[in-house]
Amino acid sequence: MARWLLAFMALAWAVAGGPAAAEEKIHVVATFSILADLAKNVGGDRIEVTPLVGADGDVHAYTPSPADAKRLADANVVVLNGLGLEGWMERLVKASGTKAAMAVASTGVKPRQMDEDDGRPHTDPHAWQSVANAKIYVANIRDALVKADPSAKSTYETNASSYLSRLDAMDKEITQSLAAIPAERRKIITTHDAFGYFGAAYRVQFIAPQGVSTETEVSARDVARIIRQIKTQKIPAVFMENISDPRLMERIAKESGAKLGGKVYSDALSPTGGPAATYIDMMRNNLREFLGAFKTS
Ligand code: ZN
Repeated sequence: MARWLLAFMALAWAVAGGPAAAEEKIHVVATFSILADLAKNVGGDRIEVTPLVGADGDVHAYTPSPADAKRLADANVVVLNGLGLEGWMERLVKASGTKAAMAVASTGVKPRQMDEDDGRPHTDPHAWQSVANAKIYVANIRDALVKADPSAKSTYETNASSYLSRLDAMDKEITQSLAAIPAERRKIITTHDAFGYFGAAYRVQFIAPQGVSTETEVSARDVARIIRQIKTQKIPAVFMENISDPRLMERIAKESGAKLGGKVYSDALSPTGGPAATYIDMMRNNLREFLGAFKTS
């Protein structure tokens, strides 16, 4: 057969939706990097995941771009946290006209309600900081992918089940390492109140000058209160978060005499190659930092 004819047939095959089209990946958009990693672990090579808020980004205070609307429009599945975290999402979804399936990862999590200074109850959105909750997220993501792409059901189920066992191991590691620390020493200061679910799950008390959103203002009174608390309760260390301005914590450490701990990851992963480029690495990094503060002070 003439070579041009073969080439023509190959082209016609591809255009008509031959093997190339069958390999087309499922497009998943996740609102932020942590959800993108969970989705990647469930979807594997079958999906392509794009986070809207990337590494070291602040998902509370985010302004979506026109490119984000385009990403949503092209998506098959959108994974979002819910619990009021992505206040900017509803408008973006409308503007994009997307037909994607919406998977709210936190569905079924028991929300933590906070009373903040304004006297109104606030839902704490940071449920992923407890590994037991992350397992609920993974199950929800798995179910959404199976629904959107039933032909790959067994792939999603196998991936999810092996990832869930890794999460189980991580959960045990955190519980066991912290159990060795006397309860009265398990106190940590962070910039914003992002570790409430971690604290409830692993019995660590977290105190933050800023509320559950990075958008709340920190008053001089809040800072003074924290400094007093550090001194009277002998709190060993204050931590910087990857998404927050380090200056507030530097000041609190200096004025209270507490040690300035390393960087912890609350609402975003580190870039690839950093210490918290996956959810599991993030939890391990934070655990190591917290343990270091408890042990050496
Ligand atoms: Zn946060």
